[in-house]
Amino acid sequence: MQSEMKTSNFAVMRFLIFCGMMGWSCCILAQEIPDGEYFRRMDLGEEMMKKGEYEAAQQEFLFIMKNREVLPTNLAYLFGRNSFHLNQYKQSINWLNKYIQLKGTKGMYYEQAVKYLQLAEDQYLQIQRGKMKELVDLMEQDYDCGGLEKMICPVCKGSGVIIKQNHFGETYKTCPYSAGEAYLTCEEYNDFMRGIMEPKLTN
Ligand SMILES: [Zn+2]
Repeated sequence: MQSEMKTSNFAVMRFLIFCGMMGWSCCILAQEIPDGEYFRRMDLGEEMMKKGEYEAAQQEFLFIMKNREVLPTNLAYLFGRNSFHLNQYKQSINWLNKYIQLKGTKGMYYEQAVKYLQLAEDQYLQIQRGKMKELVDLMEQDYDCGGLEKMICPVCKGSGVIIKQNHFGETYKTCPYSAGEAYLTCEEYNDFMRGIMEPKLTN
């Protein structure tokens, strides 16, 4: 038989949000769904997942999560694994960990849970590393200024002044980056684009 875990605050929150969305009458109806219907949907979801119909499987699992106050522990494994197939790696990691934590090594899906947890963690780390690399590349990117030695100052657009609107009309301030000039050197322009150029004027 399926064992069960106590409703987490998370599940209660989802339940309340669901009630808010669907209205109270629907909420009362939802409580009347017999247990058998939940387990039928869980089995159906598992079958769909095994056939590679991950989106459809997700709908079955979400139905149970939205409607049932006490979630079957095995749902944590099924939802966690299915999330992996849907490329939702963080979600997958959270639910698979939850399953392992609740069932320990005796769970019927233990080995599978560990396997998919490993896969999800690998994918998740790979994405995080990719994001880091993108950031580093952006920081190191050189703007060649198209072979030009100087570039129009991107802050004041070459006017040398920054115009600000206030209640009394317009105020003019010397552009702190180009110090009143129209241009930045190509080197300054690179620093500006990387976000590391200090203004030449501090006031
Ligand atoms: Zn300027």
